[in-house]
This record gives sequence, C-alpha cells and structure tokens, in this order.
Amino acid sequence: MTLEDRFLPPQDKSYKPSQNPDERVIVERRASITYKKSYGGMSPYFQGIMGGGAAVLCYTSCANREGHDEPRVIRYQVPRTDCPECYERTRWDTLPGATRFFVETKSTAVTLAGISFLNRLPVTVAWIRAVLPDGTELDTLAAGMVEIEDYDRLVRGDELRPVFRQDPRASASDVMWVPRGTPGDRFPGGYIASRHYPV
Ligand SMILES: [Zn+2]
Repeated sequence: MTLEDRFLPPQDKSYKPSQNPDERVIVERRASITYKKSYGGMSPYFQGIMGGGAAVLCYTSCANREGHDEPRVIRYQVPRTDCPECYERTRWDTLPGATRFFVETKSTAVTLAGISFLNRLPVTVAWIRAVLPDGTELDTLAAGMVEIEDYDRLVRGDELRPVFRQDPRASASDVMWVPRGTPGDRFPGGYIASRHYPV
C-alpha cells in the first residue's frame, strides 16, 4: 500500500534514468507491506517474553564439547535453535529469577532497526552479560533495549532487570531492561515486572 509520494527535483541523484534525465518526473514513494511470519524454532523464546507478569527468559545451550573449538559447553543468551559452532540441536532452558544481568557495554542504532523500534529511534541498547545463580556466565551477550534516560547513566558493571510488555506484540521489544531497583512507576510505559524476575 502506498503511503506517500514525494516529488523529487530532477537534480536529485537518488534515481538516474539512463535517457533524457531532465524530462523525467521522479517521486520518492513510501510504502508499507503486510506479511505473516513465523518465529519457527525461536518460538519458545517469544512465548517466554510474551508472558507479561509471568514472563520468562529462555536461553539455549550446546553440550557437544568435542564439537567446539574450545572443548566446553556453550550457552547462548539469545537462543539459537542450532549451535552455530557444531550445528547440533541445542537444549532450551529458562533463566532462573536469581540470574544476574550486568551491563557490558552500550550502543545506539538509527538504522537496521526492526519495525517494532521505529517509534523510538534512536534505539538505545545495553549489551547484557547474564550470570546464572551458580556463577556460570552465558557465553553470548544480549542486546537489551533501555530508556534513553537510563542509557545516559548506565556504566559497565551496572545491574539490570528485565521488564515485559503488558500487552505483548510478539516482538523482540516485548522485553526491555531497567536498572535494578527501579520503582514500578518509573518503568517504560506499558511494561511490568514478571513475578519470576523481581526488579
Ligand atoms: Zn555446539
């Protein structure tokens, strides 16, 4: 469906017809398409973060030590259905409530953002290191959306907690992150704590 056509002056170099360029009328067209997609093998992760007040965070692990460059179990905080190191099918687990989450670094993005982020550009992201209650660190970081006010204050090592969209959209943005101890009235709008992960 076409949303908007915008006339471009002929000098605009974003489209270069091969002949008679000065006689062409050129427009920039904004369009929107609707399509249906499946999260496939990633569905358990999305089911988890769509739980609102009962939401959970899932991760996967691969125990095929011999198949990895370093012979050890690999744990993927952003789940992967198949292990990218050895191609074996991974095992799903839930991050316990006592898991601790730490800021490793931060970044922003204004391009390549998914459609669910379009209304909150620039996207402010903390790269999160998860540590299981027994002290085991997951081997990958997760990119967690944080409010820009929190983003400005966060430093490496700060502790974060997940909050979840009360009316989930089946989108990665159904989970956001707040500094540990943030009172409920300072959560991002529309987000609540899960009983599994007290803030
Ligand atoms: Zn593996």
